[in-house]
Parts: sequence; structure tokens; C-alpha cells
Amino acid sequence: MVNAADCAFDDGAIVLTWLAHGHRETVALLRLFRGQVIVKLCDLPRLLQRYTHSLLTQVSQSAVCNQFHAVDARLARWLLMTHDRMDEDEFQLTQEFLSNMLGIRREGVSRAAGDLQRLKLIRYSRGRLKVLNRAGLEAVACSCYGVIKDEIVA
Ligand SMILES: [Zn+2]
Repeated sequence: MVNAADCAFDDGAIVLTWLAHGHRETVALLRLFRGQVIVKLCDLPRLLQRYTHSLLTQVSQSAVCNQFHAVDARLARWLLMTHDRMDEDEFQLTQEFLSNMLGIRREGVSRAAGDLQRLKLIRYSRGRLKVLNRAGLEAVACSCYGVIKDEIVA
């Protein structure tokens, strides 16, 4: 185990990074030495602690959200969280998957997605979803989106 300061870029090494708290952090360096791969971990306990805290916040906030917030707001939150993790505005999401993620029946997903489409915030057809108006989705989403995002970015 080494400190993060020891994991500066080293010529010839493969640098593994992850995006956390709004910036890239070096996780490990990989180097070939005499036919073997040498792995140098970088402050892994601290990174895992931050990841675990962020994941627990997301899980607990989602549980509260599913209990107390309206389906349209929950769907908007979930779509924003998905959009944050995508490189594009359009992605594949089935009603069955969304119903599992939101803890509601598929009919509820269909109704909530229809509401967001009528507001011209998304386009959703045959499992393809496109975010048309992200600011509008943020306005519809419940406050849980901000709580979870702040925890990840902070
Ligand atoms: Zn919520």
C-alpha cells in the first residue's frame, strides 16, 4: 500500500484512474517488469471509504425517496442520475428496468414517462429514452437528486 503522493505518473506505467468527487484520482499503476505485471495501489482504503460512503448515501436516499416522493419526481431523479453517467443524451431503458429501479408497476412508469414527454422534457419510445430538456427535468425532480449528486461531487 502506498500513499497517493507516491502514485505520481510514472513513464511506462499504465495509470488506472476513476472519476470521483468531480475529478480523476489515480487508483493504481500497472507496470510490466520481466514479464510480470507489477501493481502499485494508491491510497486504496481512502478511496474505498469515500466510495462506500457515497454508495450508502445513494441507497438510503433512494429508500426515502421511494417512500415519500411522487413517481414523476422519482423518475426525473433517476433519469438525471443515469444521464450524469452517460456520454450521450439518448440511452436504452426499458419500462421493466425502470419499474424495478423505482419500485413501481410498469403502468406507473408509462404514466410518469408520458407526463415528462408532454412537458417536452424527454422522448421515450420502445425503450429508447432521450433527454430533451435537462434543466426542466431538474425542476421536476425531487430534492433527492441534489442530495445524492452533492455527495458524489463534494
Ligand atoms: Zn426523492
